[in-house]
Amino acid sequence: MIRSLPPATAFLLALTCATTGCRPAADTAADLVLRNAVVYTVDTLNPRAQAVAVRDGRIIYVGSDSGLASVVGPRTEVLDLAGRMVLPGFHDTHVHPVSGGIELGECTLTPAESLEEVVRIVRDCATRGAPNAWVRGGGFPLPVFRNGSPRRALLDSLVPDRPAFFTSSDGHSAWVNSRALALAGVTRATPDPVSGRIERDASGAPAGTLRETAIDLVSALLPAYTDDDYLAGLERGLAMAARVGITSLQEANAEEPVLRAYARADSLGRLTVRALVNLHVDLARGAEQVVELTGLRDRYARGLVRPVGAKIFMDGVIEGQTAALLAPYVDRPGYLGELNVSPGRMDSLVHALDSAGFKVHVHAIGDRAIRTALNAFEAQRARDGGAGPRHVMVHLQLFDPADIPRFAALGVVASFQPLWAYYDSYMRDLTEPRLGPTRSTHQYPIASMVRSGAVVAAGSDWSVSSMNPLEAIQVAVTHRALDDSTGPAWLPEERIDLPTALRLYTLGGAVASDEDSLTGSITVGKAADLVVLSDDLFARPAYQIGRARVLLTMLAGRTVYRDSTLSTPVR
Ligand SMILES: [Zn+2]
Repeated sequence: MIRSLPPATAFLLALTCATTGCRPAADTAADLVLRNAVVYTVDTLNPRAQAVAVRDGRIIYVGSDSGLASVVGPRTEVLDLAGRMVLPGFHDTHVHPVSGGIELGECTLTPAESLEEVVRIVRDCATRGAPNAWVRGGGFPLPVFRNGSPRRALLDSLVPDRPAFFTSSDGHSAWVNSRALALAGVTRATPDPVSGRIERDASGAPAGTLRETAIDLVSALLPAYTDDDYLAGLERGLAMAARVGITSLQEANAEEPVLRAYARADSLGRLTVRALVNLHVDLARGAEQVVELTGLRDRYARGLVRPVGAKIFMDGVIEGQTAALLAPYVDRPGYLGELNVSPGRMDSLVHALDSAGFKVHVHAIGDRAIRTALNAFEAQRARDGGAGPRHVMVHLQLFDPADIPRFAALGVVASFQPLWAYYDSYMRDLTEPRLGPTRSTHQYPIASMVRSGAVVAAGSDWSVSSMNPLEAIQVAVTHRALDDSTGPAWLPEERIDLPTALRLYTLGGAVASDEDSLTGSITVGKAADLVVLSDDLFARPAYQIGRARVLLTMLAGRTVYRDSTLSTPVR
């Protein structure tokens, strides 16, 4: 169960904390005490402490070691952390644990950083499985292929006699071989589907790369996953989340089988995060589907599972020229990219979803996608005066700067992927050539958004990129590659400092998920969602933040991950 404190109680506890040095009112012993630690609370009333005490899944004490005497009883587990850091559990406000976890169980290309590695892994996978079975997987990085467009001829040479299907790490492209295309009946005569593209060679024949909805032409043939596949995928994703300190997340996109996996995991007591699930909205349909989404929400809501979000894909990605821009792609004159949903339909969907109490969760990459979604939120606000739920926009890559202040004005959460904000091969080879030099400086304006007063949160988009919040926090602070300690920072004015980056991944996420009375800071009365790190992040150079390790992750006082190097209790 999520045990949510009524706001008035939370306020009283905070007041008690402020006036008494955070001692519990009741004379009851703690279940667990973390002492001799660097506690960074993300609570402005009481920002730093040495010790935290937990009872019945709640934080009952935040203060100095010397004040612990009143809460340590004969059965209290006491962990001496020897100067290690304690933080609130991390919030990942956009992540795909189920599909990412399923991918981990398939032919995963995520570890590959070069074409040679992609080739080696695919060749190896082709030696496994039944003779006629699909060779399937995902996670290849687009930049290892020229123009982000892998060719079927290469895949034919690696997998000549079985159908093969791989999604790119961002999920917006697929690489298929000739066998797969033949089974799907995709030929030079096949037109591009709505909101999709079949990349073609000079003769017009399918070249082997499918974008966006064109992926479905082949993926529709893949054997369906079972409920057990979904649950196993979720559990792989959850294990990774626990290892990197995530205690709350927003599932980015769930159709019913994905939602069911969360509900099953919760019922089995195996869910190790608070999960806000964003239900998939079918953009080919209109507002009438909101009745079905409401049914799903009512049927599967339980325990740690809150299916209260609805996901809308406004556009695609700049690298594949599928993001919707206000001005044409530099390398494709006259072409603006497409919105997946017309402004009129977006308006009616937002109206219906907001009225039904859904938090709308919008994928928006291009400046036109961002503006169109903001316009829809503005129209809804004009109707109801902002009485509806808090909505969230994610990715937020390319801005017209005029749209930045609108997030605060409309009460819309800006959720970024800070790990993407540096000059990598995507930026150099695929993004800048499409946007040109001026627009390229209008990407990921995290610092500007924070200054605007908007609620800002962060997420990984795993399995698109690493789930580790510490790596994303490092890049948010440095705007350099993880292994780059000295190079120039990319768009340095949009860097944020460490306290701000930590807030994005804790309290910012809690506000985005309407959990801030329960999580997001180490505050007496809140749930004991806590992380112990190997190092004090403030005591090491910013370029080493990502190397700190999570040693302990707790959800409501329950240990969901514990590193073997963390010492056993002293008593
Ligand atoms: Zn995503």
